[in-house]
Formats: sequence, C-alpha cells, structure tokens
Amino acid sequence: MLKICGNNIYWKRKFQKGTLIKSDNSAEFYPDVLEGDFYDGWICPGLVNAHCHLELSHLKKLAYEVKGKGMAFFIEWIQNVRNQFLDSQNSEIQHTLIDFQKEGTFFIGDICNSLITKPIKDANQKFYFRNFWEVFGLNPEISDDKWSSILENAKYLNAFVSLHAPYSCSKNLIEKVHDLYPTLQSIHLTESQEEIEYFAEEYSKLADVFLKMGIPSEFLNQKLPYSEAILSEKTQQYILVHNVFIDLLKIPKKIFETCYFCICPTSNLFLHNQTISPEFIHSFKDKICLGTDSYASNLELSIINEMNYLIPLKLNNEEIVMMATINGYKALLISDFILHKYQNLVHLYEKNQKFQTQVLCG
Ligand SMILES: [Zn+2]
Repeated sequence: MLKICGNNIYWKRKFQKGTLIKSDNSAEFYPDVLEGDFYDGWICPGLVNAHCHLELSHLKKLAYEVKGKGMAFFIEWIQNVRNQFLDSQNSEIQHTLIDFQKEGTFFIGDICNSLITKPIKDANQKFYFRNFWEVFGLNPEISDDKWSSILENAKYLNAFVSLHAPYSCSKNLIEKVHDLYPTLQSIHLTESQEEIEYFAEEYSKLADVFLKMGIPSEFLNQKLPYSEAILSEKTQQYILVHNVFIDLLKIPKKIFETCYFCICPTSNLFLHNQTISPEFIHSFKDKICLGTDSYASNLELSIINEMNYLIPLKLNNEEIVMMATINGYKALLISDFILHKYQNLVHLYEKNQKFQTQVLCG
C-alpha cells in the first residue's frame, strides 16, 4: 500500500491537493489532507504520448539519413527503407516501450499501418494504447475487398480508422472514412511547407515524388483544396497532428471547438528544421497535447524531451504538465475509469530547469 500526499495529485480530471492511499486494487483520495510521504511537483497516472508510430521503431538506425531533408524526401525514403531490418522490428518496439515505461509514459496514441504491434501490446498490459488504423491512397477506386480489409484490421486492433493527411487521400477515401462516423480521428496536418506548396502550386516537390512513385497524374489533379476537405463534422473529435503551418481560418468552427492540437516539436526540427510557433502554443495551450512521432523522424521518443523543449518558451510549468497529462487524456478520450484501471503512478517534478520523472508504480 502507498500513502502519498502533495499539492498536485491527479484525481477526477484535475490536479488537487490531498492524500492518495493506493493498493493494488483500489485508490482513495482525501482532498486537502496532507498525510504520508510528501511529493513536490505532480503525481499522475502517467504521461501521454499522443502521437507515435511504434511499428517504425526498427528504422532508428537510419533516421540520420532524413535529418533536415523535408517531407518529399521523407516520403520517397520511407517507401524504400520500410522493410529493412524487419528481423529487429519486434525487439526495437519492445525497447521503445521499455523507454516509455522508464520515463512514465503509459498512455500511447499509436498510428498503425500493420498488425505487427498487436501481440506486443497484448503482452504489455501496463500501457494503454489508443490505436489508429491509418489509411491513405490517391487512387479514387477503392475495391470492396480493400475496404473490408481496412475495417477488419481496425477491428482486430480495436483501432479508429483515420485518414493520413490531406495530400495523401483521394476524395472517395475521405468520404468513405467520414461515413463511418468515427468517434476519433488522428490526422497529420500541415507538417511542412511542401504540403502547402502542393495545394497552392501546379508543380511542387511533393507532386514530383508522387509521379516518381508511379501515381498517375490524373489522381494528383483531383487534389482537394487544403485541409477543410479532410475534416468532417461527422467525426466527433479530431487530434490534429503537427499544425506547423496551420491556417485556423480553414478549420470549421465546430471542429475547432472539440479538436486537440498534438505538437511534435523535436521531430519537426529534426526533419524540417522548423516547428510550431511559440505564439500558437501560447494561444491554444488548453488544447495542446504532446507527441514524438516515430523513430523514422526523431532520434528519441521522449515526452520529457518534448516538455523540456517547451520550458524556454516561457510557458509555466503547470501548463506544460497539463499538455503532457490531462490534455493528452482528453485528446485520446481516456476516461477516469481507464486511468484508474491502469495501476500506474508517476511522480513528475522539475529540477534545475528540467522536467524529470520517477515511476512510483507501473
Ligand atoms: Zn506521424
């Protein structure tokens, strides 16, 4: 049994002052009472990585090849390298999870293009995974077989079907996904300047890459005008990922009200040498959660790193902690029932201008 107290203990959707008594099967909270071991900082059920791609963990050794190269290069590169080092894929995914556990990141929004992570997730019950079955394709023809396999795979992974990004999906695919009336979608949005150019200009680096990959030019001509096409009011909530070049005027009002912005600054800086503006972060701090993206575009998948990146931007510590915890729980639709079902407890504190964690149980 643990008896701990502090000024900021997560209980019922907020951080509160009080004492938490926790055993394997139950947790009780006494507000305003301070008894037991006192912890400075914050106690929470775990940090949230709201956006990663666990299944790309085996590309860790190759990520240096894309440093600063941008989106068009990345898209072509990943087609070529995706199947390298597949024999180490399982063990690299395990290593990623061990690192998450060490820093107390127990809630993961994971983008899936294959079923490879399923047995690993089943065997790692300390984590809660919010899976997204990601779809893309510029071919307007989607056969019934292809569509049923999308639905089957999503069901097998207990995942929400999600569109990849505005530049990679045909109108037909977008409409088919919207017709599912999804509860939650996680979509890559305006990660790079190249995406903006793709929609604004006839010739662009992204269009070049698509043609080089053998995508017929008539599919590219059908491109939709920017992001609003991919956002539907039929979807209850969105996690918009990256948002580096977002034009908020193009986000429908109803969608803006319920969406969360997942930012991945260290990945953006690694791949594009550019990331989200401090002004955006300050303006929408209550809607921001944190992600790392994958080992194909980042050297470390660490939410503590993302938090430490934010310190010099003059946010206060509480605001950064909220982005790594409560905003992430809300973005991934994680209820208190789930938070308490996962028996993790993480002590998060700040020392010498850096966030640190200590896992108390989990
Ligand atoms: Zn991503």
